[in-house]
Amino acid sequence: MGKIYDGNVRAVKDVDLEIEDGEFLVMVGPSGCGKSTTLRMIAGLETVTNGKIQIGDQVVNDVRPQDRNIAMVFQNYALYPHMTVRENMSFGLRLSGGHSDEEIDERVEDTAELLEISDLLEQHPKQLSGGQQQRVALGRAIVRDPDVFLMDEPLSNLDAKLRTQMRTELQRIQEELGVTTVYVTHDQTEAMTMGDRIAILNHGELQQLEPPERCYDRPNNEFVAGFIGSPSMNFFDVDVTATGDGIQVSGSGFETELDLNLDTGSYTLGIRPEDFEVADGDGRLNTVVDVVEPMGSDNFLYLETGPNEIELTARVDSTFRPQRGDSVSLTFDPNDVHFFAPDGTRISTDNDQPLVSEA
Ligand code: ADP
Repeated sequence: MGKIYDGNVRAVKDVDLEIEDGEFLVMVGPSGCGKSTTLRMIAGLETVTNGKIQIGDQVVNDVRPQDRNIAMVFQNYALYPHMTVRENMSFGLRLSGGHSDEEIDERVEDTAELLEISDLLEQHPKQLSGGQQQRVALGRAIVRDPDVFLMDEPLSNLDAKLRTQMRTELQRIQEELGVTTVYVTHDQTEAMTMGDRIAILNHGELQQLEPPERCYDRPNNEFVAGFIGSPSMNFFDVDVTATGDGIQVSGSGFETELDLNLDTGSYTLGIRPEDFEVADGDGRLNTVVDVVEPMGSDNFLYLETGPNEIELTARVDSTFRPQRGDSVSLTFDPNDVHFFAPDGTRISTDNDQPLVSEA
C-alpha cells in the first residue's frame, strides 16, 4: 500500500506487509519515514492512495475506523480527567452499545487484573503516576477485545526505567491475549526487544521485515545495518583486492587480509562496536583514543584511525580503560564483518554462517 499526501508528499511507497495472526510486529525507522502514516492507514484514519488493506479475510479500505475492530494506543493517552479509571475503561464499551452492565464490569475487572491496576479502579487519572495512566490507556483498548492493537510510541512519555519495565509487561500482556499487534517506535532497542518481527522503514520504503536477530546479523543493507544496534555499526570506505586465497582490504590507515571470498572492487566495510577486540600485539586496525565512556559492564571507546582521522567506536571489557591519546590496536573476526556494495546492498560473503535460528 502507499500514501501520497496533498498530491505530492509520498509518505509511504508500496509497503507490502503481511502480519500473522497473533504476531507482535514492530514498525521502526527514523522520524518521518512513514510509520505513523502506515499505522493510521491500517486504522482507517488516513485514506490509502494505492493498494489494499486486509484484516482477516476482509478488505477494509472502505470500512470506517470504528467498524474495523481495531484498538489504538497512543503516546498521548488522553484519559478523561473527570472520570474514574473504571469509567475511563468502560466508556468505549458503553458507547458502542450491545453490552450489559454486568458484562462491562466483568471485562473491566478482568482487564484491570491483567494490568495489575485493580486497586486503582475508583481513582481519577490525576491521582495516578505516568506508568499507571499508561496502563489505564492500555486497559481501555483491551476491554474492547479488538482483532488488532495498533500502538504508536505508547511508552515514549515514560521515564527510562518505567519504559523498560513496561516493555516487558506489554509483551507479557500481548502474549497472554494473543491479539495481533502493530507497534510503532523510532527506538531500535524497543524494536529489538519486543518484536516477533520488525519492519524497518526508511523514506517510506520497507527495508527489511524479519525477526530482530536476523536484522542484526544479516541486515539487508547499510541503512538497516546502521539503524539496528547500539552504538551503531562502524563504516569504512575500503578497496578490496581478491588475492586467490582471500582478500586484501585497504582503508584509511589500515590494510588487512581476510580469509573471505569477494570480488575486487570498492565497498563499505561494516563492523559493529562489539565485534572489535583489543589486539595483544599488532592488530588489524591501529587507532588513537579520543574518549573513553565507562558503561559499568563494559567501556565504549571513541577512537580515530588513519591520516584522515576516521572516527569509530569499539565496545570493550570494562577492565580495559586506556587514556585519551593512547594507541590501541584492534582486531576482528572476518566472520563478523559486513560488506556493502556502492548502492548500499549487503554482499553475502562465504563467511555467512548459518544463524542459530536456522540451525
Ligand atoms: P513517522 O511516523 O515515521 O515519523 P509519518 O508517517 O508521520 O512519519 O510521516 C511521513 C511523511 O509524511 C513525512 O514526510 C511527513 O512530513 C509527511 N506527512 C505526515 N502527515 C502528513 C499530512 N497530514 N500532510 C502532509 N504530509 C504529511
